[in-house]
Amino acid sequence: MRFAQVIGQEIIKERMIHGVRVGRIPHAQLILGAEGSGNLALALAYVQYILCNQPSETDSCGECSSCKKVSALIHPDVHFSFPFPKKAGEMEQCSDVYPQWRTALQEDPYLNYEDWMQQLNAENKQGNIPTKELRNIIKNISLKSYEGKMKVCLIWLPEYLGQEGNILLKSLEEPPEQTLFLLVGSDLDAILGTILSRTQLVRVAPIDDASLSLALQTRESIAADDAQRLAKVAQGNYRLARDLGKEAGNPHLDAWRIWMTICFRRKMGEAFQWSDDTASLGREGVKSFLLYGIQVLRTCAVLPYTGSEGLWEGPELDFVNKFNTLQLGEGVIGQMVTVLEKAFYGVERNGNAKVLLMDATYGLIQAISKKN
Ligand SMILES: [Zn+2]
Repeated sequence: MRFAQVIGQEIIKERMIHGVRVGRIPHAQLILGAEGSGNLALALAYVQYILCNQPSETDSCGECSSCKKVSALIHPDVHFSFPFPKKAGEMEQCSDVYPQWRTALQEDPYLNYEDWMQQLNAENKQGNIPTKELRNIIKNISLKSYEGKMKVCLIWLPEYLGQEGNILLKSLEEPPEQTLFLLVGSDLDAILGTILSRTQLVRVAPIDDASLSLALQTRESIAADDAQRLAKVAQGNYRLARDLGKEAGNPHLDAWRIWMTICFRRKMGEAFQWSDDTASLGREGVKSFLLYGIQVLRTCAVLPYTGSEGLWEGPELDFVNKFNTLQLGEGVIGQMVTVLEKAFYGVERNGNAKVLLMDATYGLIQAISKKN
């Protein structure tokens, strides 16, 4: 993958390229960015640039043998580790599921953990990076590089390293020469502190609206107006924007309107039906919906200060404006966001979506009742 194929993120690209050109490549880095920000895509472009035989001042060449191997995910000096559900005799180390990994990553470098689990048909099983794989990493970096340049160990989602991740500490601290550890994650709080303290943090911001909108137009053939609207709704998350773009209109907005009516009018009878309907979206759908709700609320909170300029447009903006006439106040909105975040993490950790949505409904009603 070339930097040109990564959506937006110009500042980080420049910083990475500059670092390589002046020979400053910290040996252990954590590339941290929210889902949909493209942190994995950036890491791939960075690796390709580092290993490219004829890099320009702005990108890898994309043509040399090294670039071709990196982009085909078959470069012998690039080792990938990632979570997967262990299964004795079948799936014990990353190489056992490498063909699936290649397919998933080549199809979509903006994939998330759930997409990957789906690729493995393991949606409800918990993945992790097992000890056997960690020993492979250590063995692998002790070998000489095949092509004479750097050896790269890319660990996707270090959040899934349990205590056994401490096996890597010594390697992270003092790796063999010409070895680069790239950890690519999203949730700082879920990564072992011992690992964090041994890596240099590279923060990846959400994708800017203009780049996101352009990507939706060119990659997803979404009309310019819709693309601009979706880019604002998704707030830097390409994966979410793309998903929302696949639907006609915005079904999340309709579901959200119904939910708010239920909460404000305390129509508990309807809440059961609504939770049932919404839970039928599946885990990913419910997560995407909750994320959308959080974004609606956050926009409501900032709108009185910023005005609508540069914020949402069309039906979303109408809704937010109407919602704000309720004058909930920042405290109440903050509590509502907390309720949604709690539900989001519950769903992410395989909780029962219907129960969590009902819980969240009670939580929202309680938060709203504190309105002065
Ligand atoms: Zn090249």
